[in-house]
Amino acid sequence: MSKVFEPYPHKSTRELRASLFLFRLLARPFLVRIGLFLVRFLLQVRFPIAPFVKFTGYEQFCAGKDVLSCTRATSRLMAFRVFSVLDYANEHANTSADYEHNAHVVIETIREAKHNPAYPFAVVKPSAIGSFKLFEKKTQNKPLSAVEQKDWNMIKQRLDQLAFEAQEAGIVLMIDAEESWIQEGVDAVVLPLMRQFNKKQVVIAITIQLYLNGNDQVYQSFLKDANTHAYYLGAKLVRGAYMEIERNRAVLLNIDAPVCNTKEETDTQYRAALHAAMKALDQHLCIVATHNQLDINWVVAYCKNNKLSLASKNLWFSQLFGMRDYVSFSLAAQGANIFKYVPFGPLRQAIPYLIRRALENSAMKTQTLEECYQIKAALKRRKFSV
Ligand SMILES: Cc1cc2nc3c(=O)[nH]c(=O)nc-3n(C[C@H](O)[C@H](O)[C@H](O)COP(=O)(O)OP(=O)(O)OC[C@H]3O[C@@H](n4cnc5c(N)ncnc54)[C@H](O)[C@@H]3O)c2cc1C
Repeated sequence: MSKVFEPYPHKSTRELRASLFLFRLLARPFLVRIGLFLVRFLLQVRFPIAPFVKFTGYEQFCAGKDVLSCTRATSRLMAFRVFSVLDYANEHANTSADYEHNAHVVIETIREAKHNPAYPFAVVKPSAIGSFKLFEKKTQNKPLSAVEQKDWNMIKQRLDQLAFEAQEAGIVLMIDAEESWIQEGVDAVVLPLMRQFNKKQVVIAITIQLYLNGNDQVYQSFLKDANTHAYYLGAKLVRGAYMEIERNRAVLLNIDAPVCNTKEETDTQYRAALHAAMKALDQHLCIVATHNQLDINWVVAYCKNNKLSLASKNLWFSQLFGMRDYVSFSLAAQGANIFKYVPFGPLRQAIPYLIRRALENSAMKTQTLEECYQIKAALKRRKFSV
């Protein structure tokens, strides 16, 4: 008799019940709004929120307060061939000291990855290690003052060191994508790094947001650049997480929003990029970073129809820690390479990240209800299999 697939093998029944409780709350936008109002208020009046950690989603979406405390969660994933990338959840960086500190923590994750095979990737968010304003100014091609030029050189130095550390550790460093109006500034430092470090294998991977108009073509131009300059392209394909911010800014500035007008257009661009990536898989690395089951099924079918191995070293899938685990474990069970984005950091510091997760889950009601359905079914199976 074939073994029944267990979509949450890393969780105890008690933990699974807690997840169900949380996702049921997140499926109710009204409750999420009240919850977020309360959390923001408690933070403002400096109320100690640690005793209420269970209600913040921290245990569901974050793996621990520092690199070492994540090992418990990531080794549980690894027991089922689900890899991890440690993602430092610190979204407030404004000073040189903050940027230095954040770069140092990313180096810590890279050094940990050097001797822990559960971590084949590391990740950095550009605005965590350099001024957002400076990336914006570079994007606008405006001249920098002497002080800004010095800060810009520091950003380059930090990224250079991170790339060097990743190369030494034999892992891939992913560069996250953020708001569209800093992206060209980010590319200005990352493109030379790819040309330099990706000659023998991928060390640096960029992120392409396919909700931005025309970004399927931007991905094609990166592929072309890699072929022209003889390096291996690493690309994480995402839809994009800043849609509201992009649209609000466009209204404020009275300009056209750079984001596709409809979800369908975003989906079409995402699929076009996936198609190009599959064709280039013999050379270039593609990270399919999505929770979208249709896209994942499409890639799996594409591999099957074109006799490509799902375990190809150039093909990785990725989902966020605590979200769509049933998708991740199913991919691992089919032999695919899959890693979870695993945020970590102290509770207070992780709150902005948790707020984004809460809003995303509450906005994507159908997927959140599917998550509830999957957890309920798993709990039921466990109950009747004892
Ligand atoms: C491993 C991983 C890494 C990630 N890294 C990044 C990153 O570096 N930068 C980043 O920005 N995001 C990142 N994301 C988030 C990602 O961009 C999406 O916000 C999130 O994954 C939801 O998209 P989806 O493809 O999973 O699911 P889906 O439910 O299929 O798509 C939801 C997404 O579609 C788009 N969308 C929804 N409605 C509309 C509309 N009306 N018009 C146009 N587009 C619409 C939005 O991008 C929305 O987030 C990452 C996600 C994962 C899983």
